[in-house]
Amino acid sequence: MSGHDPYTPESGDPSFDVESYDVEIDYRVRTNRLEGRTIINAVATVPVSAVSIDLVGLRATRVRVDGNRRTRFSQGPRKLRVTLPHRLQAGERFSIDVAYAGAPAPRRSRWGTIGWEELEDGALVASQPTGAPTWFPCNDRPDARAPLRLSVTTDAGYLPVLTGRPTGTSLSGGRVTVTAESSVPIATYLVAVHIGAYEQMALDDSDGVRVFAPVSLRREVTRAFAEVPRMLELFAASFGPYPQEDCALVVTDDELEIPLEAQGLAVFGRNHLVPDEQRLIAHELAHQWFGNSVGIGRWSDIWLNEGFACFSEWLWFEASGGPTVAQKAAKHYARLHELPQDLLLSDPGPDLMFDDRVYKRGALTLYALRCAVGDVVFSRLLREWVETYRHALATTDDFRALAARVAGRDLDDVFTPWLDRTALPPLPRP
Ligand SMILES: [Zn+2]
Repeated sequence: MSGHDPYTPESGDPSFDVESYDVEIDYRVRTNRLEGRTIINAVATVPVSAVSIDLVGLRATRVRVDGNRRTRFSQGPRKLRVTLPHRLQAGERFSIDVAYAGAPAPRRSRWGTIGWEELEDGALVASQPTGAPTWFPCNDRPDARAPLRLSVTTDAGYLPVLTGRPTGTSLSGGRVTVTAESSVPIATYLVAVHIGAYEQMALDDSDGVRVFAPVSLRREVTRAFAEVPRMLELFAASFGPYPQEDCALVVTDDELEIPLEAQGLAVFGRNHLVPDEQRLIAHELAHQWFGNSVGIGRWSDIWLNEGFACFSEWLWFEASGGPTVAQKAAKHYARLHELPQDLLLSDPGPDLMFDDRVYKRGALTLYALRCAVGDVVFSRLLREWVETYRHALATTDDFRALAARVAGRDLDDVFTPWLDRTALPPLPRP
């Protein structure tokens, strides 16, 4: 059992783990009304007689533990406190069935407003790191990953695009229902629903990539995503086979501040379709390996997601005839040099966890490693990293240990200055 994550101390309950989620929602676009039912199949990690579930802005109307109609519960602004019918021992299984409803809205956080968000004509989910409870009750810890079934019903004319392998679409009484299933464990922040007047569009030689956008954006979308198959090929060749059950890309009719990855899924704003933003497409795709398959169990390790995704952008630039990795490294090194050197990459703290320096210094750390061990060992390391921690949790120490093993030598001379010190080490040279 692990405790609360120090970056998100108000989220999650360490007294139980989740074995699977079953999430069913019905959403009315025009009135922004959500009715849901979520079943959490759980296992106690310690002796426990009550648990708390994260749920924000929506009201639980009925809660049952193991079908018990007399389950007692109480709700505060962030937590649903559920009394178990009797005290459970560590290792005992139980299931919590929550019916809930309300007008979903993003929650305010130190990282901005996150979670379920209304669009001009639809809705999206952008949860990282603690937005998931704005639309389904959960144990909102990054290390509590679980398989998940999802069913979303909404007004006909809209198409929900969900995390997971699609398992069905049906129309009934002016409502459309889409279902999906993830057999791989997902972190709550990586579960997403995107609802809009979307049409599925085909890419040339797209090999399983599903693209959804308003039909008016068809031309821009197919142009902007034309290189997606090549990006996926490059990453599969560099890191190993694409690790997810689905690859869906959604473009909203709205402009979005940033695109965002979810499990087997990513969402972009219409403003991200311009040639200058190609790197963001590569970035979000790379997260399917780094962050979504190889996962972090605590937020302090965020560079394992963002540094690797940023380094993947550089690989794509080089492979597509743009600047080389060495040129990108030198450019971003020069920029970092002008910025305050007060960020500790191995533990940036909650306020700086999404700071751009985490991304760039993280990528530079990988570049420094590549310079130190050479291309052949570095490539083998990335592939072993992805394979060893496929759909599992990993830490910075795990990466350092694996790197040392693959390189056949201690690499603290590389890692310590980049990860455990704030001053910028010299620019690495190949
Ligand atoms: Zn990212």
